[in-house]
Amino acid sequence: MPGNANMVTVWEKDPSSGRTRQAPKPDVNKLPLGFYFPPPEPPVSDDTDSEDFRYWVAAEALRRGADFWTPCLAPPPKWAPGNTLQVRPDTIYDDLNSDYDGAVLTFSHGSAPANPGLVVYAGATPDILCHELGHAVLHALNINLWPPGGTELEAFKESFGDMSAILCALQVSEFRDTLLAETQAAGNFWISSSLSRVAEQFGKVVRAVAPEDADKDCLRNAWNHHNYEAPATIANRQGPDVLTVSSHSFSRVFTGAFYEAFAAMFTARAANKATRSLELQIASTHMRDILAASVVNAQRRDDFFAHVAARMVDASAGKDASYPAIFTDVFTRRSILPGAIA
Ligand SMILES: [Zn+2]
Repeated sequence: MPGNANMVTVWEKDPSSGRTRQAPKPDVNKLPLGFYFPPPEPPVSDDTDSEDFRYWVAAEALRRGADFWTPCLAPPPKWAPGNTLQVRPDTIYDDLNSDYDGAVLTFSHGSAPANPGLVVYAGATPDILCHELGHAVLHALNINLWPPGGTELEAFKESFGDMSAILCALQVSEFRDTLLAETQAAGNFWISSSLSRVAEQFGKVVRAVAPEDADKDCLRNAWNHHNYEAPATIANRQGPDVLTVSSHSFSRVFTGAFYEAFAAMFTARAANKATRSLELQIASTHMRDILAASVVNAQRRDDFFAHVAARMVDASAGKDASYPAIFTDVFTRRSILPGAIA
């Protein structure tokens, strides 16, 4: 029996780390941005292999993510479908998938045929929970972007999900400490880390089933060097470990630029300061606000990456005078924005 009925045990970030933490028991029904989980509410559990534990991982991650994004939504904050979003925390065996269909968040679980013993649960993977939540947040921020669009708009939606996963993870103080120890040991924040590797455990199983659908070390690594290439020029490209026009693959271009800019924002903020964890959290809320401001009135365009990137440069000036140069440098070097005319 857990010792404190007001606390739940959840993963610190990815299940593959094995690290858990205690969190206040979340109220999924709380408004604004409520959730509806099918009853009954299970008891809390410290058994990481149990359905009850997985329920509370989903509840805590979605509550934390919704609370994080709430300040960006025009008052009164609401989901696109209304005050409450339906959640199916675990459905359909052997479907390595998760989904936001405009009204419901759905999570499945599965395994690779070569390793049936390792069953991975999308709905108990905080990165995937906060990725799908990101789809719902983007829908709420700008409903005009919701209908399917071109390669760049669809890839941006996937990038927004991964950016949401990364920013929501940074709201966990225990995880910030883990990450800071990891990056300080490396002497650099801009490395492949437990933050940049989105959905490590889930990605490992996806990769075993479909090598072209996951990076080598996780589902999608935000620490990457994928530069922008016009979708028309790579339309026929396919295979693992290359940039293709599928929305998940192409999303890595935008996510990589976001992550490189974020690393520079944090590194500049944290220089010579003892309060690195606090600076990391501040940088994450700045990035959240810059992203949200950039998509709120964004238009449906074929050059959607450049459109949003230019808006991020502008929005960043309102947060810190040093930010526009950081965003401009990263977006031009990665060919998302055209370079300055010499
Ligand atoms: Zn997605």
